[in-house]
Amino acid sequence: MEEFALCPNPHFVVIPWPVTSHMIPMVDIACLLAAHGAPVTIITPPSCSQLVHSRVDRARAGQAAGSAGIGITVTALPFPCAEAGLPAGCERLDHVPSVDLVPNFFDANAQFGDAVADHCRLLMATPTPTRRPSCIVAGMCNTWAHGVARELGVPCFIFHGFGAFALLCCEYLNTHKPHEGKSLDEAIDVPVLPPPLELKFARRQLPLQFLPSCSIPESRLRELREFEMAVDGIVVNSFEELEHDSAARLAAATGKTVLAVGPVSLCGGGGGGGARAPPSLLDVRAATDSSVNDDARRCMAWLDAKKAESSSSSVLYVSFGSAGRMPPEQLMELGLALVSCSWPVLWVIKGADTLPDDVDEWLQHNTGGDDGQCLAVRGWAPQVAILEHPAVGGFLTHCGWGSTLESVTAGVPMATWPFSAEQFLNEKVIVGVLGIGVSVGVTKPTEGVLTGAKDGGGGGARAKADVGMEQVKRALDMLMDGGVDGEARRTKARELKAKAKSALEHGGSSYMNLEKMIQFAA
Ligand code: UDP
Repeated sequence: MEEFALCPNPHFVVIPWPVTSHMIPMVDIACLLAAHGAPVTIITPPSCSQLVHSRVDRARAGQAAGSAGIGITVTALPFPCAEAGLPAGCERLDHVPSVDLVPNFFDANAQFGDAVADHCRLLMATPTPTRRPSCIVAGMCNTWAHGVARELGVPCFIFHGFGAFALLCCEYLNTHKPHEGKSLDEAIDVPVLPPPLELKFARRQLPLQFLPSCSIPESRLRELREFEMAVDGIVVNSFEELEHDSAARLAAATGKTVLAVGPVSLCGGGGGGGARAPPSLLDVRAATDSSVNDDARRCMAWLDAKKAESSSSSVLYVSFGSAGRMPPEQLMELGLALVSCSWPVLWVIKGADTLPDDVDEWLQHNTGGDDGQCLAVRGWAPQVAILEHPAVGGFLTHCGWGSTLESVTAGVPMATWPFSAEQFLNEKVIVGVLGIGVSVGVTKPTEGVLTGAKDGGGGGARAKADVGMEQVKRALDMLMDGGVDGEARRTKARELKAKAKSALEHGGSSYMNLEKMIQFAA
């Protein structure tokens, strides 16, 4: 633990919802606040603290020499797995081995909340004023955080992991309920932005809580909604120039302070006046710690080789987030499209250990990649560094908001294959609002398999894939070439990359919103 320097700025307590894709941006938000001079304590379950430390160290390395430096304390508190009936060390939602255990994870997180409350009381009682919490920033399912903030008499911000447009759509759906009583195929109007943009989604494309099949208990949904309605402010990983005033519209719709402070993946570079580029690319090559694995090094070496072979940005990067997996028959159709591409493909596959043997063998034979065109990586890839690599010219994405924003920040156009959650809403931003994407034309959620069954959970004969190889191929051809339209998409992507960087530079919109957040808490 480090001691804080005496500092007049408010002390933020950041408590991420323990799921990898939320921890990453929330730690980055913490780093940005700290780079603006505010002391920060990040509270995390023990097994997440390595992830937290590696990102804090990365941000520190990216700060310009002579800048204020990063005053962050990382506090690990016990996460009661055994008490809640979870396997030992199962301290992140994406590490839960089966959907049946998700309620247990929520129970463990509620008990974790009690430990956080005790710790915050201790901090409040400290004789050192600068260590007393001034503001809590809580992940979306840490509903207990609001009670803690009220008890301490400090404001509470929520971080959902969604972009501002998706949050605005959810607010509209929650308030006006146009989806109720509609069938899964019926189109729902979500008119949150002015015409001519047509904002219609089939009900099946809406986030889980708006589907009749939603497995989250009614009482939990109510608790989540009450939490988001009770908080003082919403912090978003986005920047004001990106989502057509969605953040301002969300503020008007909710009556809350909404602050877009991103793109947070630049936390080691533009934020807080740091003058250097994001350190992620250099880190992957230079780091010796276990956060950078052999797969990561292999990806970067492969990309370097592809860049040496071709001066253009010829590589297609394919990844579906921290946990996105598809049924085996769908994976095969995608695989057939990828190996028939005329450009090199770097493909990250999650859940490969549960694939049926024939699909696994096909992958082994066709995606060795080291001397060929398609390299499949079965573990954790260094996504931000990959997207920043000059060899990469396109990204086939599931439209998770973190991935979307990282692609925008790197200036890489996207082909969109939304899986679930708010990803169909994000697709609308990428393709319809920003004009930097090509839709694969997926109409239904892509259901992953969380059972761990070797036959893909289907039991017998495999179903037909929803999205055929030719359909995928058409979208990828347009993304990577696309003639005049393709060039227009690349130009827009480059323009947005510049805007993303400016937003975090001194005086930029996100820079100013970080300052506002600090003033709000002061
Ligand atoms: N990510 C990564 N390597 C991987 C897979 C994912 O670094 O192999 C990171 C990615 O950069 C992003 C996050 O995990 O920051 C995924 O978040 P997103 O919102 O895109 O999707 P989710 O995982 O929530 O579906």
